[in-house]
Parts: sequence; structure tokens; C-alpha cells
Amino acid sequence: TKVVKFGGSSLADAKQFKKVADIILSDPERRFVVASAPGKRFIEDVKVTDMLYKCYELASESENFDEYFQMIKDRYNNIIADLGLKDFSLDEDFEIIKGAFAHMAGRDYAASRGEYLNSKVLAKYLGFDFIDAGKYIFFDDQGNFDWTKTEAKLAPKLAKTNKAVIPGFYGSMPNGTIKTFSRGGSDVTGSIVARATKAKLYENWTDVSGCLICDPRIVNNPEPIKTITYRELRELAYMGATVLHEDAIFPVRAAGIPVNIKNTNQPEDRGTMIVSESAEHCDHIITGIAGKKGMSVINIEKDKMNSEIGFGKNVLRALEKSNVSFEHMPSGVDTMSVVIATEALAGKETAIIDEIKSRVHPDQIYIESNLALIAVVGRGMKSARGTAAILFSALADARVNIKMIDQGSSELNIIVGVEEEDFEVAIKAIYKRFIGI
Ligand code: ADP
Ligand code: MG
Repeated sequence: TKVVKFGGSSLADAKQFKKVADIILSDPERRFVVASAPGKRFIEDVKVTDMLYKCYELASESENFDEYFQMIKDRYNNIIADLGLKDFSLDEDFEIIKGAFAHMAGRDYAASRGEYLNSKVLAKYLGFDFIDAGKYIFFDDQGNFDWTKTEAKLAPKLAKTNKAVIPGFYGSMPNGTIKTFSRGGSDVTGSIVARATKAKLYENWTDVSGCLICDPRIVNNPEPIKTITYRELRELAYMGATVLHEDAIFPVRAAGIPVNIKNTNQPEDRGTMIVSESAEHCDHIITGIAGKKGMSVINIEKDKMNSEIGFGKNVLRALEKSNVSFEHMPSGVDTMSVVIATEALAGKETAIIDEIKSRVHPDQIYIESNLALIAVVGRGMKSARGTAAILFSALADARVNIKMIDQGSSELNIIVGVEEEDFEVAIKAIYKRFIGI
């Protein structure tokens, strides 16, 4: 059995639906399909999920949302008509959903209907069963995904189903209300379905030919990564490589199921394999580069801080008191830096500084903002000496000032902090030095 997930751009219109059906039907092992809501058909287009959020907002302010709701109906009705589906209509569902909006259904319920409706259409087109994720995927009272309950319901259901389409992105709370994963969460649903069926492969179909070495919006046509381990991908995903939702890794990793990221528009490309261990030779010293803007760093200096028992702990306590979490905490002799998302720090700067001052009495403490973090990740770095030196010289040659360095103890990554305005230049320079043009 293979579980296949198709993203929004793969299911944006009838033309894409046909490509998807060709892919699924060409391999009888592709039995369970997880579908996203219709995405963008062209750059300025609006995703159905965003239209649903808009309807929800209008409904919750008791404003008229007919116009937006009609746009959503039109998207689906066009797909249904262009696919030539006879004896099939979503009109009953549209009525139920519209009624629910008017009666103040939750925001997550509203958002989830994009996947729900699209999966019904795809199931009909393929001749597969439709399985509503709301009845088989569960969260606990705290809103965390509940594998035990999900497995108990989902695994037997799939065991007696031959082929089915399951909407991505959502499940149910114990009280029955619909809850979604965070944005891009259909990747997580696919991973859960793969684990529940003990699939031999989870294929994640999107609009690029795999996980690319870096963001294609920064470097033109970056090479796809052939093989990457779960750990490497987790590092990249956490640092902003959004091709696979960061939480999608856990269910498949728990079951040892490999993931193949594939391109719906170029199905013959091999894409990226995500595996637990890779003995395979790496083409390059580094596997991938990812990064994010919008970071701030609190720099703390104090002579002999290293010999002061509990110094780090006291800094952490200060952050805890202000209820902010940090991303990284590189330290050197007599210096310590705490990297925090600027958004999380906003409005709390003075309080945090005062709190840290009162706890550890630093010689100097100051905040720098407009920082970007870049992670260079690769299992090959362990055996290749001098990766850091190559990285620093690439950045120096590009006249990028390195504000911070954090080398993980796993030797799997090196993280550098640079000025936000140098972000793209830095990524381009790193790509060029390690991978080539
Ligand atoms: P889907 O709707 O199929 O889930 P996403 O938009 O979530 O697709 O993810 C695919 C997009 O991720 C690509 O179109 C690309 O713009 C972006 N992206 C960012 N970083 C990377 C990367 N390292 N490799 C591949 N794609 C990336
Ligand atoms: Mg996605």
C-alpha cells in the first residue's frame, strides 16, 4: 500500500485533477489519497481556504458573505462540470455549510470545508470511497493530536476499505467540534494515514520536484535533494523550508515509513526520498539550506559568566517569567546570546532586559533586531572537515557580516545570524560555494 497526498496546486482545477487521477490510477498500490483544498490556479488567484476564512470573518461580524460563498461554489462547480461528472452535486453540502456559517460554526470548521468538498469530488472522479477525517482523526482536550484514539478508529476502517480519498488538514475534538492542524496540515494527515495503514511509502505530491536544496524563490532552479534523513529535514523545515509541514515527519518516522516528495506536473522526476538513515553517498557536503527573517538577539556579556553556577538557568527563568520562548542560545566565553522571534519579543523588551539584569547582573546587555537566521544542514558535514571555514569564507566574499554563529552539537547543522537585508545574498552565496551555479 502507498498513501498519496496531493497539495492545493495539484487540485486547483479540473486540468490538475486529471493529472492527479492519472498518477493515482497508474499504480494499484496507491490506495489511500489525502486531498487538500483547491489552491491557486495562477499567481494572483485566491486559495479556497482563504475564501473560507473570509466568509467566516464576515459571518462572525453578521455581515453578508453571499458573494464570497458564491465564489467558493463556483470553484467546485467548475471543477465538477469540467470533469464531466454526472449525477453528482455538492449542493446539499453547500446548503449545510452555509447554514453552519450563519449559525456561527467555528473558524476551524469553516477552514476545513475546503478539503472536505474537494475530497468528495476527487473520490467521485476516481470511483473511490470518501472517508471523512472528522470521524477518524482525533485531538485530545488540549488540542494535541491523539494517535491512540485515531489509530483505534482509523486503522480498522482503512483495513476494510479498498480505496478511498480522505480530506487533509482536520480532525475532531473529543466534544465533536472540528479542529484543524496548522496551515499546510494536510501533509500531517497523509503521514497519519500512512502510519495507520503501515504503508510501505508515503508519497507527497506538490508543485516542485522534491525538497530543493534551498528555497526556489531565492535561488533560481536549485537542485532537488535526492535523499534526506528525517532529522535533516526536520532541521530544514523548522528553519523555514516549507515544502513539508514540520509535524508531518513524526507519524511516518515512528513507523519507519519513507516519504517521497514528488511533482504532480513532472511525475517522471524522481523527487526527494526522506528516510531514517542514509548510507547513500551524498552528492554535496551539505544537504540543504533554509532560513528565516524576523529574529532578534539579546546579547549578554559578563566576565567569568561561565564559572557562575546557574547563570544560564537564571537567564532562562527571566525569559520564562516574560513568557517568551527562544529559538537558539549560542554562548562563548563571557558572552551569551538568546535568539527570539521579533514578533514574540514585541512590547516585552524592557521587561525582559530588567528581569535578566536583576537576576544575573550582566556587565552589558543589549538587543539587536532585524536579524535573519540561516541553517546549513547536512549529515555529510561530520566527515568533511572545514565546512564551517568554507561557509564563513563564502559569506565574507559576499561581504555578508556574520552576527552570530551556533553550531549544533549533532554536527548536523551550522546556524549563522546575518542582517535581514543580507538574507538573500547570503543564501545565494552559500548555495554557489557548496553546490555550484
Ligand atoms: P502544497 O500546496 O503542494 O502542499 P506548498 O506550497 O506547501 O505545496 O509547498 C511547496 C512550495 O514550497 C514550493 O512551491 C516552493 O515555493 C516552496 N519551498 C520553499 N522552500 C522549499 C524547498 N527547500 N524545496 C522545495 N520547495 C520549497
Ligand atoms: Mg504544503
